[in-house]
This record gives sequence, structure tokens and C-alpha cells, in this order.
Amino acid sequence: MLNIAIDGPAGAGKSSVARKVAEIFNIFYFDTGALYRAVGFYMLKKGLFNRQGFSIEGELAFCNLELKYLNKKQHIFLCGEDLNSHIRTSNVAAAASFVSRNLKVREYLLNMQRDFAKVHSVVMDGRDIGTVVLPSANLKVFLTASLRARAFRRYKELILNGGNYNFEDVFNNIKARDLSDSAREIAPLRAAKDAVVIDTTHFSLDESVKKVQSLVEQLNLEEYIELL
Ligand code: C5P
Repeated sequence: MLNIAIDGPAGAGKSSVARKVAEIFNIFYFDTGALYRAVGFYMLKKGLFNRQGFSIEGELAFCNLELKYLNKKQHIFLCGEDLNSHIRTSNVAAAASFVSRNLKVREYLLNMQRDFAKVHSVVMDGRDIGTVVLPSANLKVFLTASLRARAFRRYKELILNGGNYNFEDVFNNIKARDLSDSAREIAPLRAAKDAVVIDTTHFSLDESVKKVQSLVEQLNLEEYIELL
């Protein structure tokens, strides 16, 4: 299988780039942040947000967390409910960042990610894909950009999705998540030693995609062709 890992902080363009690259090479795109968001959403909904030391298996014992592809688009189901339209808010992002510090949550979600990549060619994006989830990925990319550029991109995205947001709030949310994601003990946000680091501050989406596309093309794709 062809496994491509794209990591980086919030708003660096990971998901847009990963989605496009997956499209170009006709392989799956797996947004791992959506899994953490689903767990964060669940904890918020249950009023358990900010609780320490919970058991995720206990919490989700009667509630399946499922990953499905409908028309090649990833959907996350929790207790049979499609969460895709509920998990893109700043509140859920903050809850995701909080639950992602929990070792049990990470272990629980790790297998879902690894199992998928074992049997599918995939572009997977997240925070620890190159370092923890897929340490032998065929290509590792670490996308980054200045905090202001990332906050501005996220702000535009939220507004385009019809929300009513204030730039400073989005900026502060991203800043807090950067800190929480980089400072946590387990699987902190970090570029793998063998990752190609790309600063997208002054890149358009198209330029970032082209850069990653050319890295993929430098791989010996023939090796994977029959497996795609
Ligand atoms: O990528 P996204 O912004 O949707 O991720 C939401 C949160 O989920 C991140 O801020 C991070 O705390 C967590 N996450 C993680 N590991 C990943 C993907 C996301 O800890 N592989």
C-alpha cells in the first residue's frame, strides 16, 4: 500500500492539500482529526468535557465509533449518527485537543488508523502520523505556516461555512491548540526526523498541492501501482 503522512499544526492546509493529493493519485484521504473531534463532540454532548481520567472504552461501550466512505468521502458515525456536520466548530476543536491528551483515547484511535492504512493506499493527515501512527510511511510531509496565516485561513473557512466568528477568537483558539498539541506528553505535534518540512505561509493551496504532488511523483510509484 502507498501510505502518505501529512502532519502539521491547525490551519497549515493539511486537509485541503491531503484531500487534493489523494484525488490526484486516486487513493483514500483519511482526516484523523475527525476521530478526535468525534470523541471531543461526544464528551461535550455528555457534559463530560474537561473531565480527567475517564475511560474511553467505558464511555463508548455502547456506542460504536465508525469510519465509512460514502462516494469516497469520509464520514464518522457515532452511535449510528453521522457527525460530519457537527464537528467542524471551534468548540469541538478545543474539546478534541483536550481529549487528544488522554493516552487511552489515543490508543483507542491508533488501531483504527493503522488498520485502515494496512489495507488501503491513503493520504492520512494529523499531528502524529509520521511519528507514531505510520512510522514507515512511504512519504512524510510536515506542513506549517505562520500563526497569523493559519488563523486567517481557518477564519475564512469558518465564515465560508456560514458561521459568525471573530478573527481574534479564531486566532486565540489556534494559538491555544498549538500549545496544547505541541506540549502534550503523548504523541506531541512534531515533525518526524525523515519528514519533508514545507512552510506554506506564502503558498497558495495550488502551490502547496504541487509541491507535495512532486514529492509523491519522486517515489517509485510503479512499486505501488498494482496495490493502489
Ligand atoms: O486536525 P484537526 O484540527 O481536525 O484536529 C483536531 C484536534 O485533534 C487537534 O487539535 C489535535 O489535538 C487532535 N489530533 C491529534 N492527533 C491527530 C489528529 C488530531 O491529537 N493525529
